[in-house]
Amino acid sequence: MNPNLKLKGQSALVTGANSGIGLAVAKALANDGANVVVNYVTRPEDADEVVNQIKNDGGNAVAIRADVSNEQQVQSMFQQMYDTYGTIDILVNNAGIQKDSPLESMSLADWQLVLNVNLTGQFLCAREAVKEFLKRGIIKERSCAAGKIICMSSVHEVIPWAGHVNYATSKGGIHMMMQSMSQELAPKKIRVNSIGPGAIQTPINKPAWETPEALNKLLTLIPYGRIGQPEDIGKAAVWLASDESDYVNGTTLFVDGGMLLYPGFSTNG
Ligand code: NAD
Repeated sequence: MNPNLKLKGQSALVTGANSGIGLAVAKALANDGANVVVNYVTRPEDADEVVNQIKNDGGNAVAIRADVSNEQQVQSMFQQMYDTYGTIDILVNNAGIQKDSPLESMSLADWQLVLNVNLTGQFLCAREAVKEFLKRGIIKERSCAAGKIICMSSVHEVIPWAGHVNYATSKGGIHMMMQSMSQELAPKKIRVNSIGPGAIQTPINKPAWETPEALNKLLTLIPYGRIGQPEDIGKAAVWLASDESDYVNGTTLFVDGGMLLYPGFSTNG
């Protein structure tokens, strides 16, 4: 456990924390002293494994099941969190899915599923967290802010993505939702920001890195010359959740190895 705990005594909920980026964020927040809820919807054994790893490292964690796109399940998850840790200080809206296809064959069900999980799920969780932040207010010993929300967005809140119209639309929506929430809630001392990951090595994008050919093709899009790791996002999440970023409101922190720098233009001005 980190000796200079930035999140000591705070409680954090990370959605979709039994895999990939969410898993690394949950571990990073716990490593900095937060009590962590490891949300999952499938594979409870993976969530239990994350909880065990955090506990073995000297932290506190509990696994709670909820489908983030289901209002009742989200409300029940927050109640279970309050029964366990008393309150929430940090929400990391991380759960997300892809259902890719060319537009002409994209089913309405796949369009709605991606929007429901990636966008509505973030709204439902943010709304519950904000109710508690407003009710409780600032506890100075814990944080300067009444609460922090981190939305897991993507470089695709900016970069259009053919063949992934539902996903890119959900991330574009997160951008405006995050900024509108931040504008509304900053006067109440609630900080809302996003992280925009580039290509991070997780199950969601396995085809893009599982063979050397695929990885080499991907690397042409990343000026920094390596694929991102979930821990890169974990570190950014700790900073955005901590008082070190107290003056940061309504911003997307891109953690992308330079993917947004239009690498296709690097040799032809
Ligand atoms: P992942 O597939 O490893 O993790 C996604 C997590 O979301 C899983 O734990 C999954 O069970 C959970 N989830 C899915 N539907 C859910 C639901 N209805 N309710 C609760 N949980 C649900 O993928 P990842 O790469 O770790 O993705 C995490 C987030 O990061 C997503 O929002 C994704 O869009 C975003 N992101 C990932 C990358 C990348 O390159 N990996 C890049 C940009 C953004």
